[in-house]
Amino acid sequence: MPVAGVSQALRAEADCRNWLAWAVDRIEADINRSADTHLIRLPLPKAPGISLYLKDESSHPTGSLKHRLARSLFLYALCNGWIGPDTTIVESSSGSTAISEAYFAGLLGLRFIAVMPRSTSQEKIAAITFHGGEPYLVDQFDVSSEAKRLACEIGGHFMDQFTYAERATDWRGNNNIAESLFAQLALEERPIPDWIVCGAGTGGTSTTIGRYIRYRKYCTQLCVADPEGSVFHRHFADPTIHRVDCCDSVIEGIGRMTVEPSFVPEIVDRMIAVPDAASIAAARLVSDLLGRLCGGSTGTNIWACLQLIEGMRSAGAEGTIVTLLCDSGDRYRSTLFSDRWLAERGFNIEPALTRLEGVFG
Ligand code: PMP
Repeated sequence: MPVAGVSQALRAEADCRNWLAWAVDRIEADINRSADTHLIRLPLPKAPGISLYLKDESSHPTGSLKHRLARSLFLYALCNGWIGPDTTIVESSSGSTAISEAYFAGLLGLRFIAVMPRSTSQEKIAAITFHGGEPYLVDQFDVSSEAKRLACEIGGHFMDQFTYAERATDWRGNNNIAESLFAQLALEERPIPDWIVCGAGTGGTSTTIGRYIRYRKYCTQLCVADPEGSVFHRHFADPTIHRVDCCDSVIEGIGRMTVEPSFVPEIVDRMIAVPDAASIAAARLVSDLLGRLCGGSTGTNIWACLQLIEGMRSAGAEGTIVTLLCDSGDRYRSTLFSDRWLAERGFNIEPALTRLEGVFG
């Protein structure tokens, strides 16, 4: 029985009231449960004068930064009249968005199908099933076209996070990640960071943060950390590149083969390409520092932060960097945190660990 399932009593309530009003209320009630995720300061014993903060998006009810997006997508789709009491929802996802959408679909008692790459970790698949969603695994890395086809075939609604991520999110305020982050930083010693570092999957998070920075006229720069195989940093260097033939990164949730409309490169100040071994080493090191596991895209972020910190340190500069703890590493116990899994794929993370220790102690 999914935890977020709709009981008979709630069904009856929805039938009595206008369904749309009931559904919007159910989704909105979630904001009170998860608006402010924690801001954690990571000690940098070997980089005095530089502060590093992690915004812990893993503390959302569905365990990742995609909780915010899923809530916005549901409200957007409801208010556009795209979903009703009998709609089957289909989404393409590397897993995190699907977990969050499965939860919100469960809150409304709707059927939810998650189209995902076959490589998605077992832990994520289990979480989707737990929330009442139906995983639908496909071989290709780019799963959007398959999700669209399936939605058409069964007459469902394709949520399409890659098209709607940046339209559905209210970047001026109203519970977006940037507003929450700057409100927390206001209580700190240096409230305006020099850099915010994040990854890009849909690009929705980076776009929301980048627009908010400009809207508020902050001098903060935005850095996107991108897996080496992904198209985003290539597109940033050469805007005529929109596609790569293969992106074999093992870091789930970030990096793409094609540039989607939800990624807006114009508001990115810097891109850092990160090898998978470095992301894994950084995810493991931060997990060790915090005493709990952080996911691979958090490792990618941390590696990009390391490069910024090294640059600041050699210039003798002080400053503040903020990045995101995107999801919990519990979802990757069988992959990134398994020594056997790493050895089978020939990853050597030792050189990256040594470099990380030069900053993190
Ligand atoms: N980290 C993880 C674990 C994710 O699942 C995602 C989204 N797929 C991201 C980072 C990137 O977020 P966005 O889609 O907003 O670019």
